Amino acid sequence: MTRRVSACTLGCKVNQYDTEAMLEAFEREGYESVAFPADADVYIINTCTVTGTGDQKSRKLLRRIAREHPNSAIVAAGCLAQRDAEALLQMENVRLVIGVQRRAQVVFLLEQALLEGGKINAVSPLPGAGFEHLFVSRHEGKTRATMKIQEGCDRYCAYCIIPSVRGPVRSMPLADVAKEAKRLAESGYREIVVTGIHLGSYGRGTDARLMDAIQAVHDAPGVMRVRLGSLEPMTVTEEFARRLSQMPGLMRQFHLSLQSGSQSVLERMRRRYTPEEYMAALLRLRDVMPDCAVTTDVIAGFPGETEEEFQETCAFLQKAELARIHAFPYSRRSGTLADKMPDQVCESVKKQRTAKILEIGNKLECAFVQKMIGTQCSVLFEEKVGDNLSEGYSGQYVRVRANGRPGEICNVQILRTEGALALGEVIDQEVK
Ligand code: SF4
Repeated sequence: MTRRVSACTLGCKVNQYDTEAMLEAFEREGYESVAFPADADVYIINTCTVTGTGDQKSRKLLRRIAREHPNSAIVAAGCLAQRDAEALLQMENVRLVIGVQRRAQVVFLLEQALLEGGKINAVSPLPGAGFEHLFVSRHEGKTRATMKIQEGCDRYCAYCIIPSVRGPVRSMPLADVAKEAKRLAESGYREIVVTGIHLGSYGRGTDARLMDAIQAVHDAPGVMRVRLGSLEPMTVTEEFARRLSQMPGLMRQFHLSLQSGSQSVLERMRRRYTPEEYMAALLRLRDVMPDCAVTTDVIAGFPGETEEEFQETCAFLQKAELARIHAFPYSRRSGTLADKMPDQVCESVKKQRTAKILEIGNKLECAFVQKMIGTQCSVLFEEKVGDNLSEGYSGQYVRVRANGRPGEICNVQILRTEGALALGEVIDQEVK
């Protein structure tokens, strides 16, 4: 009887990548993957702890699976597992807690726990952790592949728990980056998303730097489109922007994390740039790639954030004319500096401010998409949405609907927009 495995991921792209790698490890050992939450013998729950909501959702999901599948074995992985291993190990049906390391051994460790009729806490201490090169050959949808080249962070921004659950900075060796990109292109992926926990730290302690890794992915045989994960403003020097602009296959969309547009809030957050330095980095990108889209994240309601500081952020966002803004209410995390700060902002104010930033973001995004009318852009189609109609993303990561087919990369003439959706017609096919 073939054993079945199913998985669910909470949190970021890096967690999704790690889940895929664990699923494939089970498949290599003869397990059959089934869609979550179908009946299975083993469930992998890859947890998140970046916000209080992440914690709650992770624990709730673990309880639900144990309740709905009482005969199954659960693997609790990821950041909450790394942070609170013993508590998760006590939960019903959890037979293995694995955290953010040793995922390549997940099958061996689980089968050992089952053989011994017990539970295993396989969470290892983070100091001294190496880069665990996990192989993923299947990515959701057959068009875009995520490639994790960096792990960990040592920035310790005041609100962030990630450094204490993902550990020190470590990177995929540069030679492996080129090999992995070639392998993904040979597997038929049209676009590679280069990601990590803190990409800007790529290569720390080695001769390689992030630009070398980006160039290696871009130049790997068969790679058509490269997209970058989150960047910090200080990574974007003039030289960095110039090198990016010389890569025709690099998508003109940059997620430049802001968090606040107020100098005093950035200082309390222990972010390592000022609003002026952020704007300078943004303008460096626009100078050499005028049509690029810069997107960002903002935290609303950081401890002590006054109405005046909040208005500074709103004004900054308008001035920066960003293409998309993800906004989050500040989430208190024990173990972070901000957790102990005075003047915590109340939930209702956080909610109001988050809504206000999203409102600004929606207007800016629609304005950005509107500017595309009458222009052409290259679109990687992903999803059929009607007769002779598909949707996909342009280089600037704008959703486009036109008469292309999933998997094709086409030049599209943009004719009109519906909110943040651009509509157009295919001019020619770049790649079938
Ligand atoms: S850079 Fe700051 S926000 Fe980003 S993962 Fe590191 S500590 Fe967290």
